[in-house]
Amino acid sequence: MRQLSSDVAIIGAGVVGAACAYFLAEMGHSPTIIDPMEQGAATPAGAGIVAPGVTFHPSPYYFPLAYRAVSYLEGLVDKLGNERLLERCGLLYLITDPRSPVDAESLARQLRRHGMEGAPMHGHVEVIDPEYVHRYFPLLVPSQGAVYVDGPGRLNGANLRDALLLQAIKRGAHYIRARASIDSISQQEIALKADSTTITTQRLVLAAGAWSRQIIGQFSAVSLPISPQRGQILHLEVPDTRTDQWPIVMGDFPHYLLTFPVCKVLAGATHEDVGFHPKPTLAGIREIADTIYKVAPSLGSARLLGVNVGLRPVTPDGLPIIGRVPDLPSVIVASGHGAYGLQLGPYTGMLAAQLATDQEPDMDLTPYSPLRFSS
Ligand SMILES: Cc1cc2nc3c(=O)[nH]c(=O)nc-3n(C[C@H](O)[C@H](O)[C@H](O)COP(=O)(O)OP(=O)(O)OC[C@H]3O[C@@H](n4cnc5c(N)ncnc54)[C@H](O)[C@@H]3O)c2cc1C
Repeated sequence: MRQLSSDVAIIGAGVVGAACAYFLAEMGHSPTIIDPMEQGAATPAGAGIVAPGVTFHPSPYYFPLAYRAVSYLEGLVDKLGNERLLERCGLLYLITDPRSPVDAESLARQLRRHGMEGAPMHGHVEVIDPEYVHRYFPLLVPSQGAVYVDGPGRLNGANLRDALLLQAIKRGAHYIRARASIDSISQQEIALKADSTTITTQRLVLAAGAWSRQIIGQFSAVSLPISPQRGQILHLEVPDTRTDQWPIVMGDFPHYLLTFPVCKVLAGATHEDVGFHPKPTLAGIREIADTIYKVAPSLGSARLLGVNVGLRPVTPDGLPIIGRVPDLPSVIVASGHGAYGLQLGPYTGMLAAQLATDQEPDMDLTPYSPLRFSS
C-alpha cells in the first residue's frame, strides 16, 4: 500500500474540483486530487452555455453567485491565456407559441433589467423581427417573437477542466486517477483510500458532483440532498458549414441549440431523474429531435456524431451546496450546481479553496450552506 500525505485532498476532478486544485496550487499548496473519470461525469458532457443574465432561476440567491462566478470566469480564462476557452457568440431567444403569455418586448425589458442589475456577459438586448431569425441562425424557421442578446458565450467543459488540472499539476498538485473512498475521519486527520494508495489529509474538499452524497455516506448526520439528473445531448455535424458564428438558441421550449467550431451543432438536453444510469436512450434522442424539428427542421439532415450523457448534481432548491459539513468541519462540500455548473464551478472551486485554507470566503455563503436542509 502506497502512503501519501497532503494538507488538502480533493475528491472529484470535474470543473469544481479541478478549479479548487488550481487555486490551492496557485496559493502554494500541494493538494492531492483524485478522480477515476467516471462515465457520466457532468463536466465533459455539459453543453457550455454561459448566459447568467438569460436565466430564469426560482431562487433570488442564484443571481449574486452566478454574476460573481461569471465575472470570475472571464478573469480566470484571461489568466489561463487561452481565449478560445470562453467565446462570445450571442443568444437568440425565440417565442414559438402563438398563445405565449410573454411577448418579445416584455421579455427584452426583463433581460435589460438583468443587464442593469450587473449580469456579466450580457451585453445589448434587441427585439428582432421573428420572420428573419434565419439571418442569425440560418437553419431556423420563422417564429412568433425573438430577442437577441449579444453578450452570452460558450465554453467546452472538458477543455476548461483539463486546462485547470494541467496548471494545478504544473504548480505542484498531485493527481491520482482512481476512485476514492473515505476510510476514517478523526479530529486530527482524514484517511482516504484510492486503489492501492492511502492518503492522509487535514482537509477534504468533496467535489464529486452527483456522487458526493454517497461518498460522505454514513460519516455525517447532516443531510446532503444531492442527486443525479441525467442529461442527454446530441452532437451534430452540418457538413461544409461554418456554424461557429451562430448564436445559442433558446426559447419557450425545453431545449437549446449551441454551436462549436467548425461545423458542429449541439442540441440538448434532457432532464431525467433516473438515478445513476449515464446511458443514451432512444427516448432521449426523440425528445430533443422533437424540438429540433419544430425550430430548425433542416437540422434533421445533419450527421449525428454521438450522444453525450452526463449526470447533473442537483439539489431540491436548485442552489449549490458550498461550505463546511457542520458535524465534520474539516470536510468542505462543493457540489450541486445542477444545470449551471460550468459557469459557476470555477468560482465555487475558488471558494472551496478559501474555506480549505481557513480564509474568509469571497462572499457570504449562508444561502448555500449544507445546513439549510436540516430542520
Ligand atoms: C447535458 C448537460 C448539459 C449541461 N449544460 C450546461 C451549460 O450549458 N452550462 C452550464 O453552466 N452547465 C451545464 N451543465 C451542468 C454542468 O455540466 C455541471 O453542473 C458541472 O459540470 C458539475 O461539475 P462538478 O465538478 O460538480 O461535477 P462533475 O463534472 O460530475 O465532476 C465530479 C467528478 O467526481 C468524480 N467522482 C465520482 N465519484 C468519485 C470517487 N469515488 N472518487 C473520486 N472521484 C469521483 C467523477 O468522475 C467526476 O469527474 C450541463 C450538464 C449536462 C449533463
